[in-house]
Amino acid sequence: MAHRVTLIPGDGIGPEVASATRLVLDAADVGIEWIEREAGTVALERHGELMPEETLDAIRSSRVGLKGPITTPVGGGFRSVNVALRQGLDLFAAVRPARALPGVPIRHRKVDLVVVRENTEDLYAGIEFERGSPEAAALRDELRALGGYELREDAGITVKPISVKGTRRIVRFAFEYARTHDRRKVTVGHKANVMRYSDGLFLKTAEQESHDFPDVEWQEIQIDHLTSRLAKQPAEFDVLLLPNLYGDIISDLCAGLVGGLGLIPGANIGWEYAVFEPVHGSAPDIAGQGKANPIAMILSGAMMLRHMGEIAAAENVEWAVDQVLERGGVRTPDLGGASTTMQVAEEVATRVTAWEHGPS
Ligand code: NAD
Repeated sequence: MAHRVTLIPGDGIGPEVASATRLVLDAADVGIEWIEREAGTVALERHGELMPEETLDAIRSSRVGLKGPITTPVGGGFRSVNVALRQGLDLFAAVRPARALPGVPIRHRKVDLVVVRENTEDLYAGIEFERGSPEAAALRDELRALGGYELREDAGITVKPISVKGTRRIVRFAFEYARTHDRRKVTVGHKANVMRYSDGLFLKTAEQESHDFPDVEWQEIQIDHLTSRLAKQPAEFDVLLLPNLYGDIISDLCAGLVGGLGLIPGANIGWEYAVFEPVHGSAPDIAGQGKANPIAMILSGAMMLRHMGEIAAAENVEWAVDQVLERGGVRTPDLGGASTTMQVAEEVATRVTAWEHGPS
């Protein structure tokens, strides 16, 4: 086999969209050896943890992972597994392309955006202090002593760290990405006028690093202004470079612009490892019913093929998805159809096999 890939089906609709994706990628026939490992509620029941160490080890060994969504149980004191995975493997860059696909009814036909999101810092760094805890009280005292800040006694606290090192690498990643993917512009979203020392640092570092990429246009925009511009004129934007929290929110906004969460793929990339996964979550409302749209995960698989150097196979899969969407007969309920997850996958896989004769 030419490639080893750790496959983590996840939970909720994860196993359904993962099987569908495996069917399509096997049809692309690039010699993938699948190493299947558990995570999420299935792993919690069997191993007592949401992200077992053996699953992380499998990714470290294969270096590439393809992952379905994982539920974060609410209220049990669980930290998001997804956040832990990205931090644990230092997958510092999330890449989430949102392009208008053929046959999907949307308002703005010319959308072709890529969100590049910093994945390890910011309010998602996991530095939190529970309301009423001794740690929260100690931090309140410290803040009073340091700067005269008075926090209410019943406040919960989340800390927002943004570093030069963390920002520099994501900025350089975004500009390199723009260069190698024939993109013209990088737009940095921030709220530096309010959060001067976190977003301000992000903006200043981005501005400094941009000098090394004179061939790529760059602009900065306040995040609130960006949301309204994206709603009205999304085609004006190209690569969006964002700190962690804004990147999460804007990715879903971009998903909405091109037809919904069932269509948006994603990649989490670090220096050593890469894990590909759809932007959507485990969708408990439709899990186990065969209604989940597998296209987001199939397109995540195409991103993975490109990352592994299988460019023709990646183009093949993307072309096959376009063909199926354009013809319109086979689609899941989120796109107004009545087909099942597996029927969509089988249709895409058939097109993938037909590619041998070239796009027609
Ligand atoms: P969600 O993305 O699971 O669902 C939001 C809505 O979109 C739901 O109505 C759902 O039915 C629909 N949807 C999502 N994916 C779809 C698909 N492929 N086809 C058709 N419809 C689809 O978001 P949520 O409900 O906020 O989160 C559910 C769980 O997933 C939570 O526990 C959350 O923590 C987790 N989550 C995991 C990831 C991940 O693993 N990367 C990402 C986001 C959320």
